[in-house]
Amino acid sequence: MEKHKVLIRRCDTYDPERIAAIVRGGMEELGIVPEGKVLLKPNVVMAHPEIFPHAFTRKEFLDGVLSAVRSRAGNLKELAVGERSGITIPTRFNFKMAGYPPVIRRHRARTYYFDEVRQVPVELKQEGRLRDLIFVPQPIRECDFLINLPKFKAHPWSRLTLSLKNFIGIQDDRHRLIDHTSFLEHKIADLQEVIQPRFIAIDAITAGQKMMLTPTPFDLGAIVMGSNSCAVDTVGCHMVGVNPQDLIHLKLTAERGFGPMDLDEIEVGGDFPLEEVREKTKNFQFCLERIDEYFPKTGNLTCTVGTFPEAHSADYCWGGCPGALQEAVHIFRGFDPETERKMKKIRYVVGRVEGPLHLAPDERVIFAGNCTSWEGNLDGEKVTIEPTYHPPAAVDARKTRSNDLLKKLAAALWDCYENRNSRYVRMKGCTLSVAEHVNYLSSLGKVKNPNFDPRLAIPVTAAYWRMRAARALNRLFG
Ligand code: SF4
Repeated sequence: MEKHKVLIRRCDTYDPERIAAIVRGGMEELGIVPEGKVLLKPNVVMAHPEIFPHAFTRKEFLDGVLSAVRSRAGNLKELAVGERSGITIPTRFNFKMAGYPPVIRRHRARTYYFDEVRQVPVELKQEGRLRDLIFVPQPIRECDFLINLPKFKAHPWSRLTLSLKNFIGIQDDRHRLIDHTSFLEHKIADLQEVIQPRFIAIDAITAGQKMMLTPTPFDLGAIVMGSNSCAVDTVGCHMVGVNPQDLIHLKLTAERGFGPMDLDEIEVGGDFPLEEVREKTKNFQFCLERIDEYFPKTGNLTCTVGTFPEAHSADYCWGGCPGALQEAVHIFRGFDPETERKMKKIRYVVGRVEGPLHLAPDERVIFAGNCTSWEGNLDGEKVTIEPTYHPPAAVDARKTRSNDLLKKLAAALWDCYENRNSRYVRMKGCTLSVAEHVNYLSSLGKVKNPNFDPRLAIPVTAAYWRMRAARALNRLFG
């Protein structure tokens, strides 16, 4: 059987012409000819030149790939770029911050903001699937040739985000947070059944360490290319010394027959030998600590972590609320590195917790997430937090919350105001998003909410209303 081929090419600069030449050469070597409706899916989970400079696939990379596709394509019916950013921020804001619109215009490509287009159901049939039905944006369903353009990054929920994980960004907010729990890895595997990318090019020129929204840059100087997500992700794991078996979504996807996860089944080519890459990345950093170990016991934000409802992940909820808390705190640090020192004391309680919390006199409590339960005394009053967790089978993908940016902000502010004299608040949801964590932490901790920073507040609000208007028009006439 012919092996899947993955190429690692050297590229130490964001020069669009050089990137175009490398990507075109990669397509030729892999025998890739884009045709029909071609859709490029970058990773623009969040973008801002000052606050989030390393979280996204760079515009120069997109520019180079668009040039390569134009020059290599066969019968091209449409060339488009589509994405849904993270943390409920409108994608059009992030595209602007990433510098995409002029690049897309220059290449006469179309833009699909996946938070503005119709979402359509797709039936899943693969054995081992988590759900029978999953919603994706219409352009994903209708494209003939998907090109995946991830950013090479470490990830606090899932260790690495490469080709497979980049598919979380095809879902809009209403559907993205479903199963974004300890089932996140299963969800990523489910999404592969919707569509397979025909070409993958990873922006690993400047890779990201530790976090996915606020990564620490790492000059990796590489472009990774292939035509099978499992093969590409397997090579990506070896590039930074991760055992592919530890990348759970890769394991689940490979087990479902989507591709290999054994290096012996992959032909690794290019001009950047894997051994040399590994030597270069031997100090590449990850952030895979539980929140009760990650936040110091002496700090103003401390965590009490209990047990969790699903048997496969009873000791911790990777993929859910704890990771969202870490990302939220990193966002605060991006705006003000002193935030945790300035914050009023908060105890974050998640999971099924038993026994006293031993709070400091001025410490307030967040009981986070639907799975959380606790019973005890707070200021002489008996408090009972009941769990309201529902397993995936009890969650209907057709009936989901909108997860609207403004609604979430207003709900969090109101909840904190209503409970201003209470020792605790209950954050309801499964999962709780990064945005919700930011809103609650800023209200209870009395620190600045990044949503109100002028660098974000005005342009995000403008993008939000344009997004709402475009979405309404697409519903009526799309
Ligand atoms: S509510 Fe509990 S089970 Fe659900 S995502 Fe949060 S921590 Fe995980």
